[in-house]
Amino acid sequence: MPAYALEFRDLAARQPSQHPSIVTQSPKEPSAASNFLRAAIEADLRGGRYLPRADDQPVRTRFPPEPNGYLHFGHAKSICLNFGLAEEFGGACHLRFDDTNPTKEEQEYVDAIIDAVRWLGFDWGDDEYFASDYFGRMYEFAEFLIGAGKAYVDSLSADEMRAHRGTLTEPGKDSPFRNRGIEENLDLFRRMRAGEFADGSHVLRARIDMASPNINMRDPAIYRIRHAHHHRSGDDWCIYPMYTYAHPIEDALENITHSFCTLEFEDQRPFYDWLLEQLYAGGFFPPPAPQQIEFSRLNLSYVVLSKRKLIQLVDERHVDGWDDPRLPTLAGGRRRGYPPEGFRLFAERIGVSKADSLIEYSVLEECMREVLNDSAERRVAVLDPLKLIIDNYPEDQTEECFAPNHPLKPELGRRAMPFGRELWIEREDFVEDPPKKYHRLYPGNMARLRYGYVVRCTSCDKDDDGNVVAVHCDYLPDSRSGTPGADNYKVKGNLHWVAAAHAYPCDVRLFDRLFAVPAPGARREGDAPDLVRDFVDDLNRSSRVVVQAQLEPALREAKAEDRFQFERHGYFVADRVDSRQHRPVFNRTVTLKDSWARLSR
Ligand code: ATP
Ligand code: MG
Repeated sequence: MPAYALEFRDLAARQPSQHPSIVTQSPKEPSAASNFLRAAIEADLRGGRYLPRADDQPVRTRFPPEPNGYLHFGHAKSICLNFGLAEEFGGACHLRFDDTNPTKEEQEYVDAIIDAVRWLGFDWGDDEYFASDYFGRMYEFAEFLIGAGKAYVDSLSADEMRAHRGTLTEPGKDSPFRNRGIEENLDLFRRMRAGEFADGSHVLRARIDMASPNINMRDPAIYRIRHAHHHRSGDDWCIYPMYTYAHPIEDALENITHSFCTLEFEDQRPFYDWLLEQLYAGGFFPPPAPQQIEFSRLNLSYVVLSKRKLIQLVDERHVDGWDDPRLPTLAGGRRRGYPPEGFRLFAERIGVSKADSLIEYSVLEECMREVLNDSAERRVAVLDPLKLIIDNYPEDQTEECFAPNHPLKPELGRRAMPFGRELWIEREDFVEDPPKKYHRLYPGNMARLRYGYVVRCTSCDKDDDGNVVAVHCDYLPDSRSGTPGADNYKVKGNLHWVAAAHAYPCDVRLFDRLFAVPAPGARREGDAPDLVRDFVDDLNRSSRVVVQAQLEPALREAKAEDRFQFERHGYFVADRVDSRQHRPVFNRTVTLKDSWARLSR
């Protein structure tokens, strides 16, 4: 537990002027426009709401994942909000593991979460906490609630308890155990803790109001018996706090000011406030209490953002593990080549609201393109190779052509690309019988080999089945790019190429969207009334295609996670798992243009 958490500091002497100033100037970027979470913080700073308790930080937020799976793109929104807002106001954001459910949580997930948040570019300093570190305090608070008549041990079965709970339209009924005396409750609760009872035989419930219109206030369970090994606390405990009980306590113990969460917790807020009111009355923390504020979760088309579904995809091997580049996990996105800055840009661009919405996957891709367009060096790759033979070029000759590493950043320099008699070009850059407006190679036509020469196509070779296996051309020796003669030739086609003798042959994985439909598993127009769709059936069966590509030789030296634009193709990354020294393997991150907009319209 953090040392400051329970220290009541007398801050009367602290003047508002000593408080870090409120950010009032207009945001640097229009996309960082104000949102209601930022507005709430600003209002609290202006009103001095947290001054009475202020420790060193004006704002404390937290990102509280449960370590029961890998983080997904939805979490990135929450991470960017919590860390981003804290950073913006000069405060702190805690990374807190909500590890209250021993049967589903593992160290592997803790490690993956730490990796992912750090990779996104956020830093929590020493503010790393585990709910399990507070189990002792949570237990102490539970005994306090029992002593105050605010909690009781219920011994109904789960089914009976459900039957007593009532419905949205009917009030619940009191459990026959609701009026147990304090002594009996304490005794039972201590024996629960001592391991005397089987799982499910008793629960500790808050004693609030079985007739409340909010079902969450009808004496919610706060502790259950679970004889299970915990990945951190081992076998110290056989009773575990419920998430709804643990969360407000964690916030209060850590001096959180703003507890941002997704909308499904809105109905839990009265309990959050109720619980903290009891504990503040008990003098356990210095007021004022943290406040829970809800925002709408990220829903993204063409993927699923639910740990349960992601676990299923991994367990049933529809994908190759948690970091499969098609998976909307941060580990998958990283391997796919999405830059962390792309996620931050995305989070800013989609903003935050209270309204549920579905964000188009193309919005995410556009953010990635924007970042990559600026940062990724250009390279040349032929993904569907066809041999081009320059019949009038000397057989044993090689020369160097030069290509800029970034068209807008001359400071990134240029690199040499060998040019020779035999080149690889894209199969689609030659046709025998061209359609209208086709400006690339066909017999009789001229096109430029980018950064090299203009060539005139003469003929092609075919195999017995009539497939084109090589294209022939002549080059125009005075047309070399960068020489005065280059301007003498006005050609419309501009092709990329790789010298066959120097090319790096390499598997390139062309990843596409994981699902073929925008809302996997959702019913579609025209479905029979009784049809239930399974999201797994909506997987895009060609989301991973591997091609044998021919790459320019410089790409041999790419290091894991180096990102490039392959000219005319899109953005690619050297796979961080499968790449070896001098033998990188590439993944397509995203195409240059949105090819799905057309399809889904
Ligand atoms: P899932 O619903 O995918 O299982 P979860 O909410 O159970 O996710 P947690 O580990 O409890 O996962 O989430 C940690 C934090 O991330 C919570 O504050 C939660 O509100 C937030 N979060 C989870 N999913 C999203 C999402 N799709 N958009 C925004 N925030 C999210
Ligand atoms: Mg959860």
